Formats: sequence, C-alpha cells, structure tokens
Amino acid sequence: MQITRSSIDTGKGPEEWFTGNVYIDAVAAAPAPARVQANLVHFTPAARTAWHTHPLGQTIYITEGVGLCQKRGGPIEVIRPGDRVFFEPDEDHWHGAAPNRFMAHLALNEADHDHVTANWGEKVTDEEYSTAPTISH
Ligand code: MN
Repeated sequence: MQITRSSIDTGKGPEEWFTGNVYIDAVAAAPAPARVQANLVHFTPAARTAWHTHPLGQTIYITEGVGLCQKRGGPIEVIRPGDRVFFEPDEDHWHGAAPNRFMAHLALNEADHDHVTANWGEKVTDEEYSTAPTISH
C-alpha cells in the first residue's frame, strides 16, 4: 500500500497543448506493467485542448460544470457532470469548457512502452470553437 498525501502541486496545462487556462492534478500513475494514468483537469471558460489522439484511447468523466467535446468531422457535443466519454484509439478529437462555464473532468489514459498517452496536433481555432453552443442554464 502506498499513500500519496495531497502533496503534488497542481500543474498548468502546457500552452502548446491547450488554449486558455487549464490546471491538472495527478490522481494516479501506476508503475509498469500496470499502465493506467489518471488526472483531474480543470478548464476555465472557453479553455480547451488542442486536437489530439490517444493511441490506447481515453475515457473522460465530467465532474463539474459544463463542457464540450468533438471528434473530427462530428458535431460539438455538450457534456455535463456524470457523463463519460470514451475516445477511440487514434480518434482525432478535443475537449474543454463551454464558452461561459467552468468544467472539470477526470481523464483516464493508458501508456506503455510502445504507446504514448497522446499525440498532439494543431490548436482548436476560435473559428472552430465559435460554433459551440452557449449554455444558458
Ligand atoms: Mn483526449
């Protein structure tokens, strides 16, 4: 048994991977051969990831606020607390907060010797994001 007290500093989401202010808290990082990694990610309004893929897929579970996600070629979907989203391996997508709402999700990623957790692409432009619905309630 290994207890990690609340002693790991919140990290700022790197500018090359995110638009806006995003804060990341480490939840789990299992040693090999286990491979699950979990992070609690907080997005300020309109903050979002860049387009990216996960070689082994990704599950996100919304814990607070109102968020958005989109796979390449699909509509922007509204996601709320209790919703979970599985992004298929290598499915190009982004996720983030609604324009006028904070959002937090748990992100469950896997990585091993042959697979990184994510491959990062271009930023979601303001034009792409501007088609997101405004959340009125
Ligand atoms: Mn993702």
